[in-house]
Formats: sequence, C-alpha cells, structure tokens
Amino acid sequence: MAFTRCTKCEGETKIRKYCLVIHMDPKHLFSLNKSGRYCPECDLIIVKQTDLEGLLTAGCEQNAPEIVGNDYFVFGTMNRTDWKKAQAGEMSQQEAIKRAFPFKDALKFEVIPAGWYPTS
Ligand SMILES: [Zn+2]
Repeated sequence: MAFTRCTKCEGETKIRKYCLVIHMDPKHLFSLNKSGRYCPECDLIIVKQTDLEGLLTAGCEQNAPEIVGNDYFVFGTMNRTDWKKAQAGEMSQQEAIKRAFPFKDALKFEVIPAGWYPTS
C-alpha cells in the first residue's frame, strides 16, 4: 500500500522529504524528518497514521516516555536547516515554532487511518 495516487484528486503523488512539526499533549514538541507522499496538484502531504504514530511513539520513548499515546496535533513543516539546528539543540522550541510553516488548512495534510486499502 503505497498511496501512489492522491486521496483527493486521484493524481499521481511524488515522494518528498519533509520535516513535520508535531505538538503533543501536554506541551511537547516533536520534529520528524520523514519522506512520504506528496500531491503537487493539491499541495497535500499524505501520511499513514501507523507510520506517524510509530515514529511518535519511538520519539516519546527516547525523550518523554510518560506521554506515549497522548493526543497530538500536526502543526506544520519546517525547513531542513532549521530542523538540524533544533536537533542539535541550537534552537529553542519557541524559536522552532516561530520558524515553522503552519498548515494553512486541513487539506495540506492528511493522515490515513490504519486499515486495509485497495492497491490500485
Ligand atoms: Zn491531489
């Protein structure tokens, strides 16, 4: 199951690398560097919920095991240079949020729930 077609327009998707900024309750910020499907037509990033939650859980276990499974909210993306700085601890969370690009609307980002999907 690769989501080679956009869930909105059925156009062909491309693989793109991006850094997602995710807020997790109560106040933890994650940045995930991930490659995934992207529809240039809709400007839509498509992420599988199982992938996303797998990465989040792994990140939590490393950094904040007490918040595994908490509610989260995908805030937007950030550029790779900023992401590297944030990873290296050269940028505060507040600064990272300020420099991130929030999704303008829900369409910019779609999480595909776990389950079975036809391959075509
Ligand atoms: Zn599309």
